Amino acid sequence: MGEFSLDGIAGVWERDARDGDGTELVLYFESDRLPPLVRARVGRVFERNGYLPPALSVGLQEREDWTREWRKGFTSFPLGNRFRVVPSWEAPPGGDDRIPIRVDPGLAFGTGTHETTQLMIEALESIGPSASGPVLDLGTGSAILSIAAALLGHRAVVACDVDRDAVGVARENLRRNRSDAELFVGSADAIAPGTIGLLLANLTADVIAELLDDIARLLRAGATAVFSGILLAQAEEVRDRIAGAGFRVGGRRVRGEWTVMVAVRSSH
Ligand code: SAH
Repeated sequence: MGEFSLDGIAGVWERDARDGDGTELVLYFESDRLPPLVRARVGRVFERNGYLPPALSVGLQEREDWTREWRKGFTSFPLGNRFRVVPSWEAPPGGDDRIPIRVDPGLAFGTGTHETTQLMIEALESIGPSASGPVLDLGTGSAILSIAAALLGHRAVVACDVDRDAVGVARENLRRNRSDAELFVGSADAIAPGTIGLLLANLTADVIAELLDDIARLLRAGATAVFSGILLAQAEEVRDRIAGAGFRVGGRRVRGEWTVMVAVRSSH
């Protein structure tokens, strides 16, 4: 879904298709006219991921309506082994030893419902807070991974996103969870070389490939990098690229059509 950073997009919502077959993606734009080229670009994203071009329909909806409709369908749920995501408008359920993560997803990606986020959280839980050096949450979206990292005991967390609106949502969510993270609008090229002890990158295969040299540069030798957002169909190619950039690629976990890869940065 991160791939739908189309011009003027205000929100993406994935839901069961209304006719009961398959999945429907609802893309919201803050405009009463569809920005040019949206149809073609949506088609290309599908094609690149090995899907047939989707059937598209376009309609008008008041802003409040879609926010309300979206909220109705979003309630608290367990995430990984340790957490429960609780929307900002709900009270955390009592009698639960899961740690609440309070999120208001707003317009940013990262409610925790997506497989790629779940795989990332599970990998983070299994790594534990032993990493030496700060955590970098690259493409933070709603900041859900930064919040989880802080709650798991990682002391220094750095989070960034190229999407200014996402950073606004991330800031709110960090505050809501009293989680400390250094947050900025930008990407891997802004991080000093050899400084990061644990990288969390829930991006797409394309973006991972694009950022891989920067990622290799910013990690300490022996640092762990977790890559999520990789479709199974792309796994071999991505694994080779990561290995080629100076990593030992270890275990991978799969959920649905998605995989996560854990890699260790070799000595520089
Ligand atoms: N970390 C969250 C959100 C992942 S969605 C989670 O795991 O659920 C991916 C995010 O990466 C989006 O918010 C998108 O804006 C951001 N992004 C895309 N390309 C990027 C880049 N080159 N550098 C930094 N962030 C990027």
